[in-house]
Amino acid sequence: MTHEPGTRFTATELLERLSGLHPDLVILGPTDLKGRHPGEHADNFAGGVMAQPGSTAAAAALVSWCAAHDVAIVPQGGLTGLVGGNVSHAGEVILSSARLNRIVALYPEEMTVTVEAGVPLETLQQAIAAHGLTTGIDLGSRGSATIGGMVSTNAGGILAFRNGVMRHQVLGLEAVLPSGDVFSDLTRVVKVSAGPDLKHLFIGGEGAFGFVTQVVLKLEPQRPARATAFLGVADAASALAVIRHFRGLSSVTLEGAEMMWPRYIRDGAALKGFDLSWLDEDAAALLIEVSAETVEARRQPWKKDLKRSGSRSASRAA
Ligand SMILES: Cc1cc2nc3c(=O)[nH]c(=O)nc-3n(C[C@H](O)[C@H](O)[C@H](O)COP(=O)(O)OP(=O)(O)OC[C@H]3O[C@@H](n4cnc5c(N)ncnc54)[C@H](O)[C@@H]3O)c2cc1C
Repeated sequence: MTHEPGTRFTATELLERLSGLHPDLVILGPTDLKGRHPGEHADNFAGGVMAQPGSTAAAAALVSWCAAHDVAIVPQGGLTGLVGGNVSHAGEVILSSARLNRIVALYPEEMTVTVEAGVPLETLQQAIAAHGLTTGIDLGSRGSATIGGMVSTNAGGILAFRNGVMRHQVLGLEAVLPSGDVFSDLTRVVKVSAGPDLKHLFIGGEGAFGFVTQVVLKLEPQRPARATAFLGVADAASALAVIRHFRGLSSVTLEGAEMMWPRYIRDGAALKGFDLSWLDEDAAALLIEVSAETVEARRQPWKKDLKRSGSRSASRAA
């Protein structure tokens, strides 16, 4: 078998050399990957060789070997990234977090959790809901997107309006550096002022500075009653007026707010077959989500205040 230009090893050679490298390392080849869904980009599995460590030590062994043999690595999580960061090529090794899927420790009193990088967001959300807690970040891709992938993309979502992006939820982090050394700062404390804070290199780094293996997250209290609404608004100034109005209410907390421009709304609605004939042709839209301690409190401002502001809305109580 010949090498692709610029590569040191064929897929077969990589399979041979990586198998047996560490007892907690599973190595998959082109045959194993054939037929598996590659996620949001058709070429994610093009490299053909995937390493699945089950521990930080196994990930470190793989990365050390690749560093010593000048083999490029492509980290992969839930494969929901939309910008091609998971695409792999011949001669490269995919480093998947699929087997790093344990919730290591949950501290409900502290409102923190330590998880391995491959835990899907929804799995974590379900595990902490019983303790009245949420992750404070939510994405449409929650069923597949992993905590490690969310750290590496500094994911946002509608709740970023209130809680910030992933960077603001991460307290501690462990990662395997490109050399194979392990960076470990699994602190569970918010008040750390010793700097520089190196974990931020990995947040939003798309894997360029290392492979994230564990993360400590700050959790948020889950308020029992929630409601969402989709409002037609004339422009950004009107959207800001609605947001400011809801921020001033004491009975509900504005959890999320996201504005959508007319073209995005039309294209999105057409794609999904939604009827938006009730919305003015050039109107923008505002998606908002509120929470409250009780269902009654949640209902009050919707009934009175939206009527008064004249917004036309489609609302849903959860
Ligand atoms: C329906 C849908 C809705 C979405 N909504 C949002 C949204 O609201 N906000 C938003 O920000 N994004 C959104 N996304 C994009 C995507 O879900 C996020 O970027 C998510 O954080 C990716 O997580 P993942 O586990 O799928 O990572 P992947 O897609 O597997 O990887 C993403 C990047 O991170 C790197 N990476 C993955 N795991 C690791 C690791 N352990 N260590 C180091 N690097 C790693 C990869 O190399 C790649 O560069 C959405 C996507 C879809 C399909």
